[in-house]
Amino acid sequence: MQQLTGDEILALDRAHLWHPYASIDPTAPLFPVARAEGCELILCDGRRLVDGMSSWWSAIHGYNHPQLNQAVIDQINDMAHVMFGGLTHSPAARLGVRLVDIAPPGLTRVFLADSGSVSVEVAIKMAIQYWRSRGRADKSQLLALRGGYHGDTLGAMSVCDPVTGMHQLFRGVLPQQLFIERPAVAFDQEWDETAIAPLEQILERHHASLAALILEPIVQGAGGMYFYHPEYLRRARALCDTWGVLLIADEIATGFGRSGRMFACEHAGISPDILCLGKALTGGYMTLAATLCSEHVARGICEGEAGVFMHGPTFMGNPLACALANTSLDLLLESSWQRRVQDLETQLRQELEPVKQCGAVKEARVLGAIGVVELHAPVDMKKLVPRLVDMGVWLRPFGRLLYTMPPYSITAEQLSRITAAINKLCLELS
Ligand code: PMP
Repeated sequence: MQQLTGDEILALDRAHLWHPYASIDPTAPLFPVARAEGCELILCDGRRLVDGMSSWWSAIHGYNHPQLNQAVIDQINDMAHVMFGGLTHSPAARLGVRLVDIAPPGLTRVFLADSGSVSVEVAIKMAIQYWRSRGRADKSQLLALRGGYHGDTLGAMSVCDPVTGMHQLFRGVLPQQLFIERPAVAFDQEWDETAIAPLEQILERHHASLAALILEPIVQGAGGMYFYHPEYLRRARALCDTWGVLLIADEIATGFGRSGRMFACEHAGISPDILCLGKALTGGYMTLAATLCSEHVARGICEGEAGVFMHGPTFMGNPLACALANTSLDLLLESSWQRRVQDLETQLRQELEPVKQCGAVKEARVLGAIGVVELHAPVDMKKLVPRLVDMGVWLRPFGRLLYTMPPYSITAEQLSRITAAINKLCLELS
């Protein structure tokens, strides 16, 4: 296939394509990538950027990985895809049992979905269908945390933070959900018993209309990169049981080791009723997500009037994606990933410490392989991203947040280049 030059790519892209959360503004910075290798993106003009984003939390093993490449080749020679209605195959069967094995206890059923947002839609539908099956059609609302992010489809958007989550823009169209303030106690603060009172009160008042509480365990990602106290999660689990409300944990960003535990729920030692996984599931090679639920929820759904769970995407259980997920899990589980993530955490803590002295910086926080610098003022992405590219790193700040969640395979020297760029930028902004 004929390769386009960087300028040709840019011209065609600017003429026809959309980008995430973007206008068709032709002056928005855009960088054509020719290749990606290890933890580097190689631009068409030859510049090499150290990747601090893991392609939005997904490329945990880095790019162009020989074993992941081989997994695609092996699988494509058998079949790239077959429909999952009435058919099944080895990659999906293997993946199902492996996810059940590593997931928090009690999650025994796996629905393979196409993307993170779809897995959240699936989770919401599971919760609603479960209660309808039990004759409780009145339990159809969701309770969500402010500062949360769960995806861009309509149902997922309805449980995103109501201020940053586009609710105003889509007013009158989104289902109306209930919201509660984000957990007041941060991950490394001392637990304060008053922090659970808002959740207690809202559940006591509204449990009769609530199907589920949905939250990102411990790490709120795109809604503010905030880390909260595990006790909140433990108590939320117990309160959901007390009030007969299902708990949906969205681990699309945190799953597969990012927060220092395989799943962030493990910080609190809890299991949700429904769990959403995505992003790093295929090692960042292609889109795949999974919604896991307990046998109790699965049976509840199937014993109801419909008798089936009403969702079934065309590309459900895609063999290529499942083969990649199996190989990515092999790589992760065979590695000493806990040590790796711990080392990244230590290095991020040390090297981001100086930014706290910068006038532009409100707070710097680190958990697992996630480093966040919260600024006082929103960043000008049009200026900042090219500046970072000039420094040889790929980061994509948003709002008041400058952050990194690098591939686990990043070297200490590469990570230092990222933290040096962050430090330099914070100085420049101060
Ligand atoms: N939930 C969380 C916690 C996420 O971080 C994201 C993606 N940023 C999603 C859901 C949506 O996933 P996707 O972009 O694959 O639809």
